[in-house]
Amino acid sequence: MKNDIKKKKNSKPIYYLPLGGAGEIGMNMYLYGYGKEPDTKWIMVDCGIGFADDHYPGVDIILPDISFIKRRKGKLLGLILTHAHEDHFGAVSSLWKELDVPIYATSFTAELLKEKLNEFGEEQKIPINIIKQNSKFNLDEFSVELINLTHSIPEPNALLITIDGFNILHSGDWKIDNDPILGEKTDLDKLKKISEEGCDVLVCDSTNIFRDGTSLSEKEVGLNLNKIIKKIKSRVVVTTFSSNIARIKSIIAAARSSNREIILSGRAIHRFIKVAKKTGYIDPKEHFYDHVDFKKIKANKALIILTGSQGESRAALTRVANKTHPHLKLAENDVVLFSSKTIPGNDKSVSYIKNNLLEQNISVLDDDGYPIHTSGHPRRNEVKLFYDALKPTTVIPMHGELRHLKEHINFAKEYGILNPFLVTNGNLVELMPNSVKLIEKIKNNFILRDGNIHISKDDNSIKERRRLAENGVIVASLVIDKNGVLYSDPVIEIIGLPEFGSNGISIYDTIEDLIDDCIDGLPKARKLDLNNLNEYVRKSIRNKIYTIWGKKPECKVASTMV
Ligand SMILES: [Zn+2]
Ligand SMILES: [Zn+2]
Repeated sequence: MKNDIKKKKNSKPIYYLPLGGAGEIGMNMYLYGYGKEPDTKWIMVDCGIGFADDHYPGVDIILPDISFIKRRKGKLLGLILTHAHEDHFGAVSSLWKELDVPIYATSFTAELLKEKLNEFGEEQKIPINIIKQNSKFNLDEFSVELINLTHSIPEPNALLITIDGFNILHSGDWKIDNDPILGEKTDLDKLKKISEEGCDVLVCDSTNIFRDGTSLSEKEVGLNLNKIIKKIKSRVVVTTFSSNIARIKSIIAAARSSNREIILSGRAIHRFIKVAKKTGYIDPKEHFYDHVDFKKIKANKALIILTGSQGESRAALTRVANKTHPHLKLAENDVVLFSSKTIPGNDKSVSYIKNNLLEQNISVLDDDGYPIHTSGHPRRNEVKLFYDALKPTTVIPMHGELRHLKEHINFAKEYGILNPFLVTNGNLVELMPNSVKLIEKIKNNFILRDGNIHISKDDNSIKERRRLAENGVIVASLVIDKNGVLYSDPVIEIIGLPEFGSNGISIYDTIEDLIDDCIDGLPKARKLDLNNLNEYVRKSIRNKIYTIWGKKPECKVASTMV
């Protein structure tokens, strides 16, 4: 290898530890370390959120587990944000206080972060260092250089991390698009230059590794949108990812060429357009109406851009489809375009909205039948082009579920990478100075953001919620006198159970009678021991309900003596 000479033979170890993102698409957080413990210094790349599934009732957002780096106080030099997607920077507001580290981001990402923090009333004074695209900076021995990419948001960056002459390329999220509409193309020339020096490790996006071919360019999608919108005679509604400013520019262009005024609806779309205007990605003179102006614009002169492409329950499109939006009311023959893809897990909610719209005779166009969306992640041909330019010695897949990471390993082997290395969340590996090897499996569990509180995924409250949701709850309060006789009627609360059994008798009456029977049948000594009484009645209620319902509800019994 050309660069062997400049590399120190006795270089200190260089580590890689993903805390999120290498096992799911979301929650990206990667650590790079230099030097032996306990003196290892670390840098963090990205700090994103993930989305919880139905297994965690009441919880929408999951966060990476940062306990490993929290135990190394003062050793974390900086947090570098590759771009402003929620899965890369969405956890900053939740975790920054615990991380207490300077942040490095380009201006679009930094502005968006500030905007979000203000919007949510978080008055944290987070030090954000704005760095230029294509620039280079140092954090102690780490040299970090930003490399331009195309993706689906302004200013996405790969990071070239150089330590002791070793080159690690952290790809961030990327695709190859020769007509990106906005920003520069993925800098393959720069990758070729790195290859001349030698790229020791490529840590690479795996999202679309199952997909053959090359993604559609953003420009083609824009032209398709334009053609389709021109033909529509009624009102046009478009939903897309609010962060995709290139797409929004295409939608704006399509609206203008069809002489339509643009109405915006949804907090995220307003936030992104505000920041895009401030950072020069959208002309500050571009005029948008708000949804309160809906009635001012004739249907065939209106194009509405709104949030909700993923069927989010509170988003504008969901409320429009449910006819509960306070301002936007669609009519028959209006056309809704989904310039987006449905993220796995959101399929049911999105289908519900589409069917709901269709029922109202509103047309729905999506990328199933129309080429009006393209992904921001590389398909196999694009990954191949990236490899061709960079010629990495080894590849570590990231940004994927295990199935994506493993497929990426297969792909790399087929390509001819000798030892691609699988690293999942919590696996601490040594990258250099020798060949890549696993050092330790760190205890790594994601954290749930439950309201404003962070809890473990094994928290008892979640287990209880699951049981309550499935089986309902019965609460009974008894008052007995010193002779063990019921002093008054028991107070019974029943939540989440059917009102009547299949025998037609009310569940309430069944429980009331059962409590009488329990009190009558139990010897006095056992009744006067209130703990014993409570447990006996509780078990009796659950068993009785099981014989009627086939399910055992949660049950709490509390007795007092007068
Ligand atoms: Zn992204
Ligand atoms: Zn991402």
